[in-house]
Amino acid sequence: MIELQNITKRYQTTLAVDDLNLTVRDGEIMGLIGHNGAGKSTTLKMILGLLTPTSGQVQVMGRDMAKESTALKRFIGYLPEETPLYETMTVTEYLMFFADLYRLPSQEAAARIDTLLDSLQLAERDRRTGELSKGMKRKVAIARTLLHDPTLLVLDEPNSGLDPLTSFFVINYLKRLRAEGKTILLSAHNLFHVEYICDRVTILKDGRLVVCDSMDAIRQSLGRREYEVYFRSYEKLEYVQEEGNYVFRSPQISEMARMLETISRHNWALVNLAVRESALEDIYVKLMTGKKT
Ligand code: ATP
Repeated sequence: MIELQNITKRYQTTLAVDDLNLTVRDGEIMGLIGHNGAGKSTTLKMILGLLTPTSGQVQVMGRDMAKESTALKRFIGYLPEETPLYETMTVTEYLMFFADLYRLPSQEAAARIDTLLDSLQLAERDRRTGELSKGMKRKVAIARTLLHDPTLLVLDEPNSGLDPLTSFFVINYLKRLRAEGKTILLSAHNLFHVEYICDRVTILKDGRLVVCDSMDAIRQSLGRREYEVYFRSYEKLEYVQEEGNYVFRSPQISEMARMLETISRHNWALVNLAVRESALEDIYVKLMTGKKT
């Protein structure tokens, strides 16, 4: 568990994080989103003990990061936004080098590296990291993050710069890590990915927390749900027409039920029923700009 209590971070004149309270629960994937400069990376770095908060407290697994950062870092895997690799080393050499820094015995390290690269579907183990594609490099960086089998993963834009297929692979890989019991905090700009994998989402704006909740709760309080009924009739009716069907839309389920009764009473042909829900992207745009999407 990660707990931020009244965390503020000021860089000279910039207030990067402003009185932030946040809890990441064991076993969940928490998504941290916000515009460029909202304070996401600063927040992650304070959780890791890489930056000291101006005020407030970071607790990791119930222990104070300010006092026990060396001990706590063992339990955390950190994937920075940019992960330059040592380009003249092969993938295996690079990972063995880091395993050595983590003081993993070499046999155990070799086995762990094999397992990790298998699970990440990275076959190019003897190629220099400088020769790898962006996606392969990101996978090597992810393997490095997992070498010491951390309990908590802090990932700064894990999908940054990746093509859609590799992104999707990484996203599903994170789901698998959650199933293995890891707790994951990630920042991301791709809101579709956040919506797809995160149990809860935190939205930051100018360093302040705007929302922290499950997607369902966020949709319920800030989004829209609309019921749609598609039907056909030979009669000329006053409903919206789309591709040969009439369409009835309402945010109320009771209105939809009433429409179904009407359709049945008139012997019109029901074609389809659908529920449309706001995507996180719509809600985010609305929150940030005040505009309806
Ligand atoms: P992005 O999505 O662009 O990565 P972010 O949400 O991660 O942005 P941060 O990098 O945490 O945002 O930056 C928050 C604010 O703090 C910004 O205004 C940024 O300019 C400022 N900032 C970040 N690092 C420093 C620093 N080392 N010195 C001074 N100001 C900084």
